[in-house]
Amino acid sequence: MENQTFDVAVIGLGAVGTATLYQLSKTGAKVLGIDRFAPPHILGSSHGETRITRLAVGEGEEYVALAKRSHEIWEEIESISGQQIKTRTGGLLIDSGVVPWSKHGSEGFWDRTVRFAHNQGIEYRIPTLEEVEECFPAFEIPATGKVYQEKEAGFLRPELAIQTQLALAQQNGAEIWTHSPVLSIKEEGDSFLLELENRSVKAKKIVLATGGWIKDFLSPEEKSKFKICRQVLHWLEIEPGVTDWTRYPVWMWGFGPHPEDFIYGFPSLDGLTVKMASESFVEVEHPDRLVREVSAEEQEMFWEAKVEGKVKGLKKSFVKSSVCFYTVTEDARFVLEPMRGNPNFLWVSACSGHGFKHSAALGEVLSRKILGL
Ligand SMILES: Cc1cc2nc3c(=O)[nH]c(=O)nc-3n(C[C@H](O)[C@H](O)[C@H](O)COP(=O)(O)OP(=O)(O)OC[C@H]3O[C@@H](n4cnc5c(N)ncnc54)[C@H](O)[C@@H]3O)c2cc1C
Repeated sequence: MENQTFDVAVIGLGAVGTATLYQLSKTGAKVLGIDRFAPPHILGSSHGETRITRLAVGEGEEYVALAKRSHEIWEEIESISGQQIKTRTGGLLIDSGVVPWSKHGSEGFWDRTVRFAHNQGIEYRIPTLEEVEECFPAFEIPATGKVYQEKEAGFLRPELAIQTQLALAQQNGAEIWTHSPVLSIKEEGDSFLLELENRSVKAKKIVLATGGWIKDFLSPEEKSKFKICRQVLHWLEIEPGVTDWTRYPVWMWGFGPHPEDFIYGFPSLDGLTVKMASESFVEVEHPDRLVREVSAEEQEMFWEAKVEGKVKGLKKSFVKSSVCFYTVTEDARFVLEPMRGNPNFLWVSACSGHGFKHSAALGEVLSRKILGL
């Protein structure tokens, strides 16, 4: 057994755990970060080259402050590290205007977005469809459609964000253990004993940020509140001569009544491909049970249902597809709670498909909360 006791152990070094570890490392606390793999990795919820960030988050007005604070923290991290984590491209939220639709559990997502932008002083426009067509001809928006355009939206580089915060945390004195799954956590007096595969370690306080694997630490009743939903990201080849995909904003588009009637995408980063995806809410029991391969049939279905007739300037040629997953709560809200009422043991689930943009600020919130600041 290691005979040292850490002030705080952060278990799980995805988006949320890494941000928490980094924030804790700045306080001078003796901190340990532990992950079952070697982050950034491709087995959790924080990979795939890009994540959208936007300030007027239709998921809930209470999350706007987190999104704004995260932008400040990303910029702070960029100036310390010299890495570019956030790219401002502007963002479009397209509503086909045919039927009401909801996203991440929020009915009237488009109207909520506009309302929150207005209430929270976020710079936005409602361009005409002609303007959108002129600037971004890839989108075949029906005449009933409406578009919200946000200036500060853009994308984050998830792998770089994780790598950079881990490196900074280490520079500040944090210890990091990779390839070290935590098997159990036991209370021992006023500290905790963490059992790993080949060793154990003590910590006075714990932040448990294991993403979808949170299910391994919860009671049967609690774990049933979290749905693991497989998601697929596709990189499609650009059709030359149609539009310049490198100068596109990030975009999201709701076009039907079902939660799956939704697509989103990014500007081309390499000038050759565009990353696009939809959402799926089919439940898989556990992250370890996910099918990690993407079949040609799935790609075909994606093309027919989500690209054809909606987005021009792409070829039916899948350069790459990648599997990721959401951990979804019923109302798509984040959970951040003391385990069994113990304020020295916080657990967090911040996904439901919209957590990355908030992760920097969530790390700050968790760090302060666990230290009682
Ligand atoms: C396809 C896709 C697209 C998304 N798009 C967006 C977007 O555009 N904008 C946005 O804001 N959000 C988006 N999200 C959501 C966002 O990516 C997630 O909210 C966020 O990545 C969740 O991070 P996490 O730290 O909770 O989980 P994870 O990144 O999965 O991290 C959990 C970590 O815990 C580790 N772990 C698990 N069990 C143990 C254990 N027993 N011991 C030690 N370590 C353990 C894992 O190895 C992992 O590294 C998207 C998610 C997906 C899947």
